Amino acid sequence: MTRIAVLGSTNMDLVAYTARAPGRGETVTGREFRTIPGGKGANQAVAAARAGGEVMMIGAVGDDVYGTRLREGLEHAGVDTDLLHTAEGPSGTAHIVVDDTGSNAIVVVPGANGVVTTLGPGEIAAIAASEILLMQLELPLSAVVEGARAARAQGVRTILTPAPVQPLPDELLDHIDLLVPNEHEAAELSGQDEPHAAAQILLRRVPEVIVTLGAKGCLYAARGGEPVLFEAPSVTAVDTTGAGDTFVGTLAVALGEGRPVAEAVAFASAAAALCVQKPGASTSMPYRSEIEAEAV
Ligand code: ATP
Repeated sequence: MTRIAVLGSTNMDLVAYTARAPGRGETVTGREFRTIPGGKGANQAVAAARAGGEVMMIGAVGDDVYGTRLREGLEHAGVDTDLLHTAEGPSGTAHIVVDDTGSNAIVVVPGANGVVTTLGPGEIAAIAASEILLMQLELPLSAVVEGARAARAQGVRTILTPAPVQPLPDELLDHIDLLVPNEHEAAELSGQDEPHAAAQILLRRVPEVIVTLGAKGCLYAARGGEPVLFEAPSVTAVDTTGAGDTFVGTLAVALGEGRPVAEAVAFASAAAALCVQKPGASTSMPYRSEIEAEAV
């Protein structure tokens, strides 16, 4: 089994469904409310665990009811939460309004995620004992930099999802093996809209890049090699939330098993295509047997 450490966020998504989002100073009556476990870190952890990885979550939840539910959800998926700390105060939350056109407006309050500014000896040891470290940018940057540096020092492969997108310091990118932006993030980070051009710019800073392109698949580029476009399976998408996190979590499992990039991308693409065919994020992430039935 691939040992994967995920250094990242755990949020409760509080989703209100309404015909029309309220304007400034306005109140509208919504139709439905759901609480859905999320956070990019936790989502990637669930995707990797369901795909067959041995996953350790590093981060924090709050000492509120959401914290308890978020921890239980991860444990139910088979994720080790020994290093998911319980901090005083609220858990991270994402306040989401979805209207009838499917458009959303989101306020993320980091809560307990914001207290993870540095790593202790336990976290460093867990990273060192892993084959792959997955990171995103929903924790304080200082902790992400520390984790990436510790992983590199131990020869642990590092994969970064640069979301939410922001300028990335060299002290982080110098320790990243594989960067996985979506099309929008790649354009923002490189200043180039075209994915091939964006990947070439990003390769100046990291050795490998995968730009995910939604229904179009993804573009893999490595220093010194020809970029390769991998098509996504053609499916009818009902909800693409969590597709990116499913892709990265399952990709990590396959890469950790020593599979070549083309095979690992096929596995991840099959998993992400299964995810988009069901509503929800972590709830729609597939299990290994389902992925294997698709990825031939
Ligand atoms: P999200 O924010 O919705 O989780 P993202 O913007 O991070 O996703 P995308 O590039 O949209 O990332 O999608 C990631 C991967 O998921 C794609 O590379 C592809 O393999 C798969 N995928 C996404 N949408 C579709 C789709 N409509 N059909 C098939 N596969 C899809």
